[in-house]
Amino acid sequence: MTDTMSSGVDALRAAMDGEVLQPGDPEYDRGALIWNGAIDRSPAVVARCTSAADVAEALRWGQANGLGIAVRGGGHNVAGAAVLEGGLTIDLGPLTDVVVDPVARRARCGGGANLAALDAACQEHGLAVPAGTVSHTGVAGLTLGGGFGWLSPMAGLTIDNLISAEVVLVDGRVVRASAHEYRDLFWALRGGGGNFGVVTEFEFQLHPVGPLVHLGMFFFELDRAEEAIRLGRKFFADSHRNAGGTMIGVNAPPAPFVPEEAHFAPGVALVVAGFGTADEHAALIAPLREAGPLFEFVTPMPYVALQQMLDEGAPWGVHAYTKGLYLDELPDEAIDVVAAALREKPSPMSQLLMFPLGGAFGDVPDEATAFGGRRSAKFAVVVDAIVPDPVMFDREREWARSTWDGLRPFADDASTYVNMMTEFDDDRVRASYGAKYERLALIKTVYDPRNVLRANANIKPA
Ligand SMILES: Cc1cc2nc3c(=O)[nH]c(=O)nc-3n(C[C@H](O)[C@H](O)[C@H](O)COP(=O)(O)OP(=O)(O)OC[C@H]3O[C@@H](n4cnc5c(N)ncnc54)[C@H](O)[C@@H]3O)c2cc1C
Repeated sequence: MTDTMSSGVDALRAAMDGEVLQPGDPEYDRGALIWNGAIDRSPAVVARCTSAADVAEALRWGQANGLGIAVRGGGHNVAGAAVLEGGLTIDLGPLTDVVVDPVARRARCGGGANLAALDAACQEHGLAVPAGTVSHTGVAGLTLGGGFGWLSPMAGLTIDNLISAEVVLVDGRVVRASAHEYRDLFWALRGGGGNFGVVTEFEFQLHPVGPLVHLGMFFFELDRAEEAIRLGRKFFADSHRNAGGTMIGVNAPPAPFVPEEAHFAPGVALVVAGFGTADEHAALIAPLREAGPLFEFVTPMPYVALQQMLDEGAPWGVHAYTKGLYLDELPDEAIDVVAAALREKPSPMSQLLMFPLGGAFGDVPDEATAFGGRRSAKFAVVVDAIVPDPVMFDREREWARSTWDGLRPFADDASTYVNMMTEFDDDRVRASYGAKYERLALIKTVYDPRNVLRANANIKPA
């Protein structure tokens, strides 16, 4: 670091209420750490922002000093978008407050909160907003890209429940975007990622959920993978809006509910999260039970526990590579590709998820938000290569790539969920937004004409 920059860092320190950290500072990792251990980048400066004013200072300072600027919400992005080598990370980590208005059924959530904090605060009032399925994911990145999870058939994507957002623009102005103000910005924020400004607060519409919900997990051995996925395809096509779920090609965990001989066994889990009554849930899952899985786990559980159930399968620091696509149908031939890939899956930590879409997700017109994917899609497929250390990583990444290549012919277009991209290559970003890309590029030109915020699935100014 040059002397000029060192003295500049002191100026930023003086201008901000939050800490400004550099490599070697004991607290540096709190703002520079990211979930994906395969990405090794050290920002030169981390600005831990405690307010919109701090964010404005950091944005101004980063631009004045010509540093690449990345924004960190929860640091979970698989592409490591929160850090640039030698750049400035604007870390929203200190902004974790969640304030719930139970009468209006609304929550205001800080731009650095994770899902666990949002869920816990909302559940104190028996409320929730649809979000992801791993609770140590950041609310910000997840929301800005779309956000789907167990509640999506009932209440849509996270962005479908966004009421407003407080945004610090790259020129330092602080604005609130909603259906009434900065409407173009509000549209772009709902799916267009962190391209348009730094969000310091999200306001969400909440729904009554739980506090007890019903889990049904049915695990089928690998020999029955095709049969299990076909069963899941029919089940989710017929299932209700008050149940979410997924099909996961996974190895059984060494959990108390798994018979010892099945620990680590590869197979397919059909997972159902029921938000109705116990009787409704029992009736709903009956066909899965009758199919005779290797083992099942059916239990009521607190909604917050459901939200944390998959946390341990994807801990911080693993080496990960993800590829995704949408399928309008899940034909038998695609199921054969999935089953073959599961039989070749090298790492027991890797997984292949098929999230059924539809329900409230499909109610929202495509043009209503900037979401990068069609609302007519029926499955979001996510191939997650995960290993604990670098040794097996190349092979595992190759598995994810070849599995994706095998499924690609069954996808109607090249769109993918931008939050599940490990490589932000320009063509794939454009393909994901399709016809919306041009509108997003025009909005980018208004709010970030010099493309200051480009450490993301980047929309280029028009
Ligand atoms: C294990 C795992 C499970 C997942 N499960 C799901 C799931 O169930 N459903 C789902 O929808 N997604 C899921 N995801 C994907 C997740 O949505 C993305 O990884 C998302 O980017 C995480 O957001 P973050 O804030 O933690 O990430 P970060 O790495 O902090 O940021 C991600 C991107 O958002 C931008 N950004 C972050 N905060 C802000 C802000 N405040 N203002 C402006 N821009 C900002 C960043 O610049 C970056 O481009 C999962 C990811 C992982 C690794």
